Amino acid sequence: MSDPVLTIRGLRRTYKSGDKVLTVLNGVDLDVRPGEIVGLIGPSGSGKSSLLHAAGLLEHPDAGQIIVEGRDCSDLSDRQRTRVRLATIGFVYQAHHLLAEFTALDNVALPQMIAGRSRKAARARALDLLSNLGLRERVDHQPAQMSGGEQQRVAIARALANKPRLLLADEPTGNLDPHTSTAVFDSLYALARSEGVAALVATHNLELAKHMDRVLALKDGHLEAQSL
Ligand code: ADP
Ligand code: MG
Repeated sequence: MSDPVLTIRGLRRTYKSGDKVLTVLNGVDLDVRPGEIVGLIGPSGSGKSSLLHAAGLLEHPDAGQIIVEGRDCSDLSDRQRTRVRLATIGFVYQAHHLLAEFTALDNVALPQMIAGRSRKAARARALDLLSNLGLRERVDHQPAQMSGGEQQRVAIARALANKPRLLLADEPTGNLDPHTSTAVFDSLYALARSEGVAALVATHNLELAKHMDRVLALKDGHLEAQSL
């Protein structure tokens, strides 16, 4: 079997508030293999976002290892971590965080141009990704002219624009109604598959989680396999 895209060992994350220490993650172990789509469930406050932030090298855990494509990132400088993140990882959040003054096409093309791709190639890939997500007719719209589900699709296209190996999605359909959630989730799943990107998708919607390759539940600060 090929090496995992992401390996986590013994991850621990605490938060201090006043004199109290809250232990949110307490020995998380995880392997995500190339191309697999893994659901991450757990009630609100169970640590899903904390785990995704650590996996995305956005913050330093209290203890444990985060290994991205075989490279242990635990002791890297912030600058090196940023480089690994930009080269390997795409993010989708509950809110779309699109640039309001840019069209859907430009929102997806810009990160590619920042990464060094030509404007023409970046726009061609953006058009391709957005078309795959059913947004061919919406590429020249700005975010405010689009529905919530359409905005999230643009955010998914943007996250995949630079061909990451790992997609981290934090309740990507959390702001959408159930019907739209299912449709957006299906799009995310299909596009991740066709791009061959591995994904770790946090949701508290068990119906959506059912469609993933496997599901892990956060309980008492660690992960347990879950059959739905
Ligand atoms: P989830 O995404 O599953 O809702 P989070 O990872 O956001 O869980 O939060 C887990 C717990 O950690 C919650 O109790 C939350 O209040 C707490 N927490 C999260 N971020 C912080 C922070 N920056 N400072 C203090 N407590 C935090
Ligand atoms: Mg969260």
